[in-house]
Amino acid sequence: MNTDQTTKTLVLKGVGVSPGIAIGRCCRFDPLDSKISFYKLKDESLIPDEVLRFKKALKESEHQLQDIQKNLRKAKITEPVYVIDVHILILRDKIFANRTINYIRESGVNAEWALRMTLDHYKEIFEGVEDDYISSRASDVEYVVQRILRNLSGEKQENVWNVGNESVVVVAHDISPADTAQMKLDKILGFATDSGGRTSHTAIVARSLELPAVVGLNNITRFAHTDDQIIVDGTAGMVVVNPYPDILKRYEEKKRHYEAAKEEYLEFGKLPAMTLDNYHVEVGCNIEFVEEIPSAIAHGAENIGLYRTEFLYIYRDDLPTEEDHFNNYSQVVTNKNLSWSTIRTFDLGGDKFHGHQKQNKELNPQMGMRAIRYSLKEIDIFKTQLRAIWRASVLGKTKILFPMISSVEEIREAKRMLEEARRELGLRGIKIDSRMEIGAMMEVPSAVVIADRLAREVDFFSIGTNDLIQYSLAIDRANERLTYMYEPLHPAVLRLIKRIVDEAHKAKIKVAMCGEMAGDPLCIPVLLGMELDELSMSHLAIPRIKKIIRESTLKESKLILKKALSFSTAPEVRSYVQNYMLKRFPEEFKAEED
Ligand code: PEP
Ligand code: MG
Repeated sequence: MNTDQTTKTLVLKGVGVSPGIAIGRCCRFDPLDSKISFYKLKDESLIPDEVLRFKKALKESEHQLQDIQKNLRKAKITEPVYVIDVHILILRDKIFANRTINYIRESGVNAEWALRMTLDHYKEIFEGVEDDYISSRASDVEYVVQRILRNLSGEKQENVWNVGNESVVVVAHDISPADTAQMKLDKILGFATDSGGRTSHTAIVARSLELPAVVGLNNITRFAHTDDQIIVDGTAGMVVVNPYPDILKRYEEKKRHYEAAKEEYLEFGKLPAMTLDNYHVEVGCNIEFVEEIPSAIAHGAENIGLYRTEFLYIYRDDLPTEEDHFNNYSQVVTNKNLSWSTIRTFDLGGDKFHGHQKQNKELNPQMGMRAIRYSLKEIDIFKTQLRAIWRASVLGKTKILFPMISSVEEIREAKRMLEEARRELGLRGIKIDSRMEIGAMMEVPSAVVIADRLAREVDFFSIGTNDLIQYSLAIDRANERLTYMYEPLHPAVLRLIKRIVDEAHKAKIKVAMCGEMAGDPLCIPVLLGMELDELSMSHLAIPRIKKIIRESTLKESKLILKKALSFSTAPEVRSYVQNYMLKRFPEEFKAEED
């Protein structure tokens, strides 16, 4: 721990994406940091030993990766195992190894230097490739090189592994799911990163691991060093590096409160989300991995309101088969504690990882070939998933949800594919549940405008506010420089949501919300006032949201909504709602004010 009294306390503001407070020692996670030395070999006689040293480091790296895989399998974390397969393949690749050995021999440099030359060579190749799948492989080579470099330097593991018994706060430029999969998760207290936004994958992963996280800090990696003391306040979106003793004390107090409240909230998770005047809201959970289901149920999820299936496609070189999909979905829909599971068809593209996706780099991927557009172009991949969802439907109540619908033609085409998938299964004599509900995600403004027409086509709507806000306010959801503009309480957003709910109800279909707004306690009175039928959120948010709903009334919420809709600006709406919540739930919101 840095005990230097002259060290300056630094407070950085970012985006709090996973609640809670972490206090501990900072551990910088740099994919290519280094105390690495590069030197020319004194004479040729040293070459054979240098080659041997490199080969030994290759072997060591492979053994370490195999150990990581074993640990992941033991912890039943399956998806990241695939990425490690890729890394092992790189380590075993003869061309990769021989290129480095040739550099050692021909240039007379040490193994580290030769390895950097190999990496530069691969990076140059990858970066010049238009195909996203291939170009993203550069990071895999980089990761493998880092591991070999560490082994060459005698440091057996990267920083995050090498934390001894003390838990640490990980500070990095960015943390990919692959990085987290390779960390000792039980030794991690929280995350602070330079980049990322509320719905970036760093954020989603942190929430699913229940670790406090602040992202979008811009330059935390410049200011925080390994061993510095650091506080991550994921609730307020603040990071304090080297806190003064009294700041530290205050945060320790806050952390105790937060944890006590968490325990207390858990009790609310078990209760229905029923207002004091008997308005009932279904509360679901958003998941990315099957492994999250127990935690979702423990926090009070009644259903899976959004299963993002993208992770089935990433970190593997081949495409998931119908059986892969089916086995996975079976584990979700057969859970007896869930009333239903909403499986969203893959939403690849945009800020999601591309995995196998063979698509050209797009100038504007969020508005490009993503989600349903991509599905309708890659019909075989799409129908493989659709058949698996149909097959799962007989095992437990299943709903299917199509992402990023922007027109009636699109939903009709998606339904036509679904029908074809059903026919194909029929020919194979496989049973399906023909009552499976079909839903459209409402996350594109054009869909909102024609909500009345779309409502005739589906059984339910699910509002994806993460994208709806992005598209309606024209702000890239992953761009940390625009975070200040990302405002769920913007009058335009409120009007769009209201229109969706009203049109759904006119058509007598249900309407859910599965964007992050659904789990934001401050937004609850306006969402209740609109009479949403379901809210689906990250599991950590559920108990607190249920508590607020249980202590609210529909009648009062409608008045709040009416007043909120009367303002012209987002700051007016926000300050009105904030003041109301502070008065109405002083205990709940006081801590956030502090
Ligand atoms: C949304 O857009 O609000 C949503 C829930 O989907 P995703 O975050 O996966 O785009
Ligand atoms: Mg979306």
